Amino acid sequence: MSYVFEPAEHASVAVAGSDARFPVRRIFCVGRNYAAHAREMGHDPDREAPFFFTKPCDAVVDDGQTIAYPPETENFHFEAELVVAIGKGGHDIAEADANDHIWGYAVGNDLTRRDLQGIAKDKGRPWDWGKAFDNSAICGPVHPATQTGYLETGSISLTVNGDTKQDADLADLIWSVREVITILSRSMKLCPGDLIYTGTPAGVGPLVAGDVCVVSIAGLGSVTTTIGPRDSL
Ligand code: MN
Repeated sequence: MSYVFEPAEHASVAVAGSDARFPVRRIFCVGRNYAAHAREMGHDPDREAPFFFTKPCDAVVDDGQTIAYPPETENFHFEAELVVAIGKGGHDIAEADANDHIWGYAVGNDLTRRDLQGIAKDKGRPWDWGKAFDNSAICGPVHPATQTGYLETGSISLTVNGDTKQDADLADLIWSVREVITILSRSMKLCPGDLIYTGTPAGVGPLVAGDVCVVSIAGLGSVTTTIGPRDSL
């Protein structure tokens, strides 16, 4: 078996306390999973079924990187999120079994071109241009669940240049991690390497060149991203 050209290196993220990396297969993201964020985006935070969007696996960016301000946006937003790393695949996973499929957790930042997302919503178009662009999936080191236990509560917060912008608790998730795994696995066969961004709390807002954005989750540490000039990298 040969390729007509050398394929790209497989996308991966760091693993806490290890030189080995976690290979990323797909990136699923939950929309509107904290009530206060649903309200700030103009939606009723009732328990209507969760919905998902995706990002390409090679949109992942490690902790501590500088990324260029992305093209074709004037409203580039941060979104602090708990990332669940799937280690065992499955279809139609029961809620009682969902934790068995979790390899670990990471601190994430679901970067968003909010203006392009808004146009997509208005016109009934896909969200990809608002969500699935290059370097849009910040992901810190994955912490094995064997070390952290299963995370259901704990502080999740985000600062920009030291000012707190988001401050909530994982217990505020409308749909728990286990419920998200169950519902997602009804539509897609989950596979080892899949990442699930579980949604952001209230307080989302813009980033500009020069900003330093830090997301922190209790037990998982922090992930830092610096925003460079547009098209600088
Ligand atoms: Mn999000």
